[in-house]
Amino acid sequence: MIADKMEKALNSQINAELYSAYIYLSMAAYFESKDLPGMANWMTAQAQEEVAHAMKIYQHIVERGGRVSLAAIEGPPNEWASPTAVFEAAYKHEQHVTKLIHDLVALSIEEKDYPSKSMLDWFVDEQVEEEASASAIVAKLQMIGDNGPALLMLDRELGARQAGAEE
Ligand code: MG
Repeated sequence: MIADKMEKALNSQINAELYSAYIYLSMAAYFESKDLPGMANWMTAQAQEEVAHAMKIYQHIVERGGRVSLAAIEGPPNEWASPTAVFEAAYKHEQHVTKLIHDLVALSIEEKDYPSKSMLDWFVDEQVEEEASASAIVAKLQMIGDNGPALLMLDRELGARQAGAEE
């Protein structure tokens, strides 16, 4: 059985993961509107991955005999200044999520909830990848600057990402 405090914290993380999905879907829609289908594809795959993250925590709560309770999801931003600004926001968002995950790990240790700690360790590793992939794209976009052909090449590269595949 999962303790109330951990159950509550994990329910909040389900909300945070679904909010992440919502942000990335909004970013995908932005790229669709800018005729950058590859970047839209990358963001759609990212959004699907976030739903899978929420489901991992959902399953954990259920398996531990806890109660999943869903709350309202905050509205995401819908506009950004440029493709670079979008990926900078994505990188910043992932840094924020990393902090949330680390706080949950700290709580699981404090509460001696080792099953939750074990489940969360996967997320610790996942966040390292999430930050690395977002920051790598930011670096490329900064190099690209106003170079249209280079932007289209990156768009094509990001169009190759498939949902569920690591990026
Ligand atoms: Mg996530």
